[in-house]
Amino acid sequence: MNVLVINCGSSSLKYQLISMEKEVVMAKGLVERIGIEGSILTHKPEGRDKIKIEESMKDHTDAIRLVLEALVNETYGVIKDMSEIGAVGHRVVHGGEKYSESVLIDDEVMRALEDCTSLAPLHNPPNLIGINACKDLMGNTPMVAVFDTAFHQTMPDYAFTYALPYELYESHGVRRYGFHGTSHRFVTAAAANMLGKNAKELKLITCHLGNGASLAAIDGGKSVDTSMGFTPLEGLVMGTRCGDIDPAIVTYIQRVLGVSNEEVDNIVNKKSGVLGISGISSDFRDIEEAAEKGDKRAQLALDVFHYRVRKYIGSYAAAMGGVDAIVFTAGLGENSPESRCEICKGLEFLGVKFDESKNNFRGKAEFISADDSKVKVIVIPTNEELMIARDTKEIVCG
Ligand code: ADP
Repeated sequence: MNVLVINCGSSSLKYQLISMEKEVVMAKGLVERIGIEGSILTHKPEGRDKIKIEESMKDHTDAIRLVLEALVNETYGVIKDMSEIGAVGHRVVHGGEKYSESVLIDDEVMRALEDCTSLAPLHNPPNLIGINACKDLMGNTPMVAVFDTAFHQTMPDYAFTYALPYELYESHGVRRYGFHGTSHRFVTAAAANMLGKNAKELKLITCHLGNGASLAAIDGGKSVDTSMGFTPLEGLVMGTRCGDIDPAIVTYIQRVLGVSNEEVDNIVNKKSGVLGISGISSDFRDIEEAAEKGDKRAQLALDVFHYRVRKYIGSYAAAMGGVDAIVFTAGLGENSPESRCEICKGLEFLGVKFDESKNNFRGKAEFISADDSKVKVIVIPTNEELMIARDTKEIVCG
């Protein structure tokens, strides 16, 4: 069976066609500037050169139509016709409290997803548009929704409840949801595999460190806490998001700067994080380079970032009453030996024995702790698309 995985953003769309027999990617690609001048599809059939198709795309239906045409194209396609796509898996950002696992999409699910839109006004609408576009173009092909929030629905109430008036939770759903669930779930399974244990026997701290970053405490294979909250803004310092701050700062800067709600929102989401501190970039590669050349604010941005991750690791070890392994994943976690090393400094008291000689690599699954380390440290490249495809196959085929 071939599964098409779709991840729709507001003006972009990522896709992968995966053959599930051996879990291999047949083709993948990216559509950018949907609904804006200069729309472009970059399509990469496995083992062949990528091609770029510049064509006007007024909406996501146009974009998905073009993707399907590319997949069946005589020259750069990978299947003969659309009947070779057995199912579609959609990444959906917010499933609210209703969905604790992936689900076959029907009319009732669509209504429930629309209800979740107020919780994720930026993310869920494009996800829904993508699902509707596929429905229009692919008729009865079964589709599955895989939620970023679902894996964290196992958090106990004392971990997801904010100390705000309880009615805000009851009437408006204000609580911790957590995100990156598909990635945390993927690396949990992979880590258990590498440790030769069942996830049920393990206490893990998974560190998804990309442009957006979150940690999760995984006890017995279940998420029991995570650093992102009601929105992806909470927790770690990120590329452009501030993470944890005193909430009083929001009204304070509104007052002293005389700016609107939207502008404060923009400041904490788009102008903060390592970009805000360094004033250089949201990309860790640029910041590491500047810090190496002696830029003090770049170094401070890295120090603040690493310190926050280390602090969360300590608190999650305390929350679970121990930890068997710490897992690094996503752009920075997979590719920055420097960050992994800095984060692990000072964690010896937990039983972490970091082995710098094992740490100098990028983008593969390896242990970076010493053989006799009580707490193992592992790097695992995440693969959210494969996780979505696996769920889709399982739900559709039973
Ligand atoms: P997202 O999916 O949230 O956009 P990614 O998981 O792709 O993010 O991670 C992007 C981040 O990873 C960027 O900040 C980038 O700088 C960082 N990154 C990627 N490769 C490296 C590297 N070799 N060294 C340091 N940071 C890297």
